[in-house]
Amino acid sequence: MQTIQSYDFKGKKALIRVDFNVPLNENFEVTDDTRIRAAIPTIKKVIEGGGSPVIMSHFGRPKDGPNDKYSMRHLVAPFSKLLGTEVKLAPDCVGAEVKAIAQALKPGEVLLLENLRFHKGEEKGDVEFARQLAENGDCWINDAFGTAHRAHASTAVMAQFFPNDKMFGYLIESEVESLNKVLKNPQRPLTAIMGGAKVSSKITIIENLLDQVDNLILGGGMTFTFMKAKGGTVGTSICEEDYLETALNIEKLAKEKGVNIYMASDVVVADAFSPDANTQVVPANQIPDGWMGLDAGPETIARFKEVIENSGTILWNGPVGVFEMERFAKGSREVGNAIVAATAKGAFSLVGGGDSVACVNQFGLADGVSYISTAGGALLEYLEGKNLPGVAAVLD
Ligand code: AMP
Repeated sequence: MQTIQSYDFKGKKALIRVDFNVPLNENFEVTDDTRIRAAIPTIKKVIEGGGSPVIMSHFGRPKDGPNDKYSMRHLVAPFSKLLGTEVKLAPDCVGAEVKAIAQALKPGEVLLLENLRFHKGEEKGDVEFARQLAENGDCWINDAFGTAHRAHASTAVMAQFFPNDKMFGYLIESEVESLNKVLKNPQRPLTAIMGGAKVSSKITIIENLLDQVDNLILGGGMTFTFMKAKGGTVGTSICEEDYLETALNIEKLAKEKGVNIYMASDVVVADAFSPDANTQVVPANQIPDGWMGLDAGPETIARFKEVIENSGTILWNGPVGVFEMERFAKGSREVGNAIVAATAKGAFSLVGGGDSVACVNQFGLADGVSYISTAGGALLEYLEGKNLPGVAAVLD
C-alpha cells in the first residue's frame, strides 16, 4: 500500500478528493473555512514533492446539473489565500478540455475541478464517470473521511484506475489510525461512554461495541429506557417504550460477553425542561411523577469518573445530560474532565459525534483529549462495524 509520506509525487498530477462542502452566506462568502484549512497539509505535501494537486470535491446539493450557486468558483479566493498559492478553476470536472488543463499543469500549480455533483455519475458511483475523472491525474489521494461511507465515483469507485497509485491523505489517515487505536488494537481496559437522547439512534453502535469494550458507560436520556425496562419509575423523563425489550437485551448480551455496564444510580431531576426549573437529586429508578431526569447525579458522576480514569482507551459519543443548559451540564463536564485526566496519565481518548465534540469545545477540553473526530455519518457507520467504501477502496 502506498502512503502519502513515501509516495514520489515528482512530476505527477495528484487527484485529491477533499471535503470542501463549506457553508456560505448570502454573499457567497465562506463563513467557516475549517474544512478547507484541514485539507491544506495534504495539498502542500504534493506541492513540496514536486507534483501538481488536482483538487476535487462535492459542494452543496445541486439537483440538475451545473448551477452557479454551487460553483466551486466561490471557493477559489479563500482556498488560494489559505494555501498561499493561486488556484486555477477548471470549467468542469471531466472532459477533454479539463484533461488538457490538468495535463498542462506545471509542478506546484494547483487546479480545482468544478463541483463533482454537477454530474449524476458521482453519487451513483458510475464507473464510466469515475474513469473520466481518473484521466485528470496519475495518482489518487482520498482525504475526505466525511464522505468515506459513500461509494461515490470520487470517494471509492475511481480507486480501480489507480491500483498502485492510491493512498490516504493526512486527514483520513489520522482518522483511520485513531479509530483503529480504539476498535482494533486498544490499550486495555477499553471504555466507551455512550450518551445522548435515545437508545434507538445508538443501538447498532452499542451492539457492535459490546464485542470490543471492557466497560460500557450508558448515560443521558437513554438511561430512562433502561430504568423503565427494569421496573423503575421515570416520571416525565425521555423514554422509548418501544425499546424496553432492546434495553434488557443489551444488558443480557453485555453479561454474556463479560462487559461491565455502568448506568446512573442517581440523577438530577427537574420539574420542567428549563434552566429555571426546580431540581433535586433522586435514585435513577425512582423518579417522582412530574419530574424528569436531565443530568447524572453526584454518586453516578463519581463512579463514572473512577471507571474512566482507570481506562487505557476511551471512546466518548454523546453527552450524559442536557449539557446545553449549564445547570444540567455537570455530568458531561465531569466525564470530559475525567477523560482529560486519563489522557494525561497515558490513555488514548477519542471523542466523536457532533454533540460530544460540542461538549469538549464548550468546556475548553479539546487540547486534553487525544483525538477529536468530526466525521459525523462516516464515524457512526465505522463504530457500527460497517465497512467504509472510501477506506476499503484504498486498502484493498
Ligand atoms: P445525540 O444526538 O443522540 O447524541 O443526543 C444529544 C442530545 O441528547 C443533547 O442535545 C442532549 O441535550 C440530549 N440529552 C442528554 N441527556 C438527556 C436527558 N437526560 N434528557 C433529554 N435529553 C438529553
